[in-house]
Amino acid sequence: MNHILAEKKLFDEQKNHLNRFMRVIGGTQDAKIELNGKKYLNFCSNNYLGLANDQRLIQAAVQGMNQYGFGSGASRLVCGNMKPHLQLEEKIASFKGAERCLLFSSGYMANIGILSSLFGKNDLIFSDRLNHASIIDGVKLSGATLIRYRHCDMDHLEYLLKRENINQRKCIVTDSVFSMDGDIAPLDHVVRLAKDYQCFTMIDEAHALGVMGRNGKGLAEHFQLESDIDIQMGTLSKAVGTFGAYCCGSKELIEFLINKARSFIYTTGMPPSTASASIKAIEIIRGESHLRENLWKNTQMLKIGLKAAGFNTLNSVTPIIPVLIGDSQKAVTFSECLMTEGIYISAIRPPTVPENTARLRITVTAKHDQNDINELLIKINKIGKELGVI
Ligand SMILES: *Cc1c(COP(=O)(O)O)cnc(C)c1O
Repeated sequence: MNHILAEKKLFDEQKNHLNRFMRVIGGTQDAKIELNGKKYLNFCSNNYLGLANDQRLIQAAVQGMNQYGFGSGASRLVCGNMKPHLQLEEKIASFKGAERCLLFSSGYMANIGILSSLFGKNDLIFSDRLNHASIIDGVKLSGATLIRYRHCDMDHLEYLLKRENINQRKCIVTDSVFSMDGDIAPLDHVVRLAKDYQCFTMIDEAHALGVMGRNGKGLAEHFQLESDIDIQMGTLSKAVGTFGAYCCGSKELIEFLINKARSFIYTTGMPPSTASASIKAIEIIRGESHLRENLWKNTQMLKIGLKAAGFNTLNSVTPIIPVLIGDSQKAVTFSECLMTEGIYISAIRPPTVPENTARLRITVTAKHDQNDINELLIKINKIGKELGVI
């Protein structure tokens, strides 16, 4: 077995500089992180609001643990359904203005559970080409036909919708904020097409919850389409700063998922203290708009600086700011040079992104300050020039 894995696959990937490995973070998740005993400015986490290490979340978790212990002991349908789970579901449903909400253990599990339970082999799922891998896996698991449309290309989507048999069930699914490009789905157009061609709609708000919309409710709020999208899932692992995921929708949808979504049914409920921390995080997101304001101020400052230097940031309009490099080896070298300068930004390579679009994926958070961003700009400009990127 080792023989097969090591020899063939690893060799091929090393050759293409695609081999992946993990670095170990010593302390907490913050604007500065510790790696091998050294401090780095961290510009690659999804901890957009800095909540992952917020004392209030820690306190809420400790309180939850004291009251409910650590593990939930069973799947929620057996005896693992605990008070904090329900309180968190109510909290999210009320924040999102949804009828009901159901928790999942992770965003990955939410997407595979939702898609595979709702759709089957006679159905068609129209999916943006750059949607997250968990959406693709969910569609595969469902047995439905996957029809990929060009990234955010509504003419292409309409062309594909027109081509298909009207009698089949159809769903359009899209990320809200695209995780590697930092651009956003044209939800207004998606919803219009869904009405015209009688499709269900599903969005993945993983990078939008807490970030997009006046109150941080996500891209549906940004477009004021909260009541027009059938299935609204999101994760708690990014701006919320905790762990787990949710699906919001009608009472009927949630009842259905409780009965049919295998990644909900056949897995242990999340630790109650995780739910307690998430409840606190949603309260903070609701109550403290200054975090989001800071995040956007930092986003603008960094983006303006990168563009002025001549970097290609694609169509990013969010705190996810890609710096396109193209060649995988060059992206890795760029990232390594930044590390020697005390800045941590990982290189993203195929197959996570399309061939020849390797990039640095920079994410900025509410916890960075002006000095952090200036330092990044000075160093990235210097290295960018040295490597001939700009
Ligand atoms: C991160 C992410 C997921 C997976 O969420 P986890 O909670 O980390 O499993 C799903 N969809 C998108 C768009 C993501 O970025």
